[in-house]
Amino acid sequence: MTTNQKQFEFTKNIGILIVYATVELGLNITQRECKRFKDRQMQLVAFGRSKTMNSLHLDALASDLLLFRNGQPVGSAKDEDYQKLGAKWRELGGWWGGDWGWEDAAHFQWSMKMMHNVPGTN
Ligand SMILES: [Zn+2]
Repeated sequence: MTTNQKQFEFTKNIGILIVYATVELGLNITQRECKRFKDRQMQLVAFGRSKTMNSLHLDALASDLLLFRNGQPVGSAKDEDYQKLGAKWRELGGWWGGDWGWEDAAHFQWSMKMMHNVPGTN
């Protein structure tokens, strides 16, 4: 399986998640980082804002979708609307940062489970 095949499926599913959040639920979200370069990742690790140099952001296989309410960013993965987005992402086969030991509510990343619809990859 190539990185491009993973990116095609990831991008399709991020699109589905964005439509779900904005059109179906009427939420205000912004898309922050998707593709991240190595020097930026090193900076985030140095500042303690990321824990790995193996982030899927390096392959454009993760996207940070920041939820806003009343003009303010929502930080907690325990938030009811973030929980809905996390559930939808799980249903699509992805991994949500809100399910990790350290909360990263805005983080939605690719997973192998997402590949069931791609010919030749299951
Ligand atoms: Zn992220």
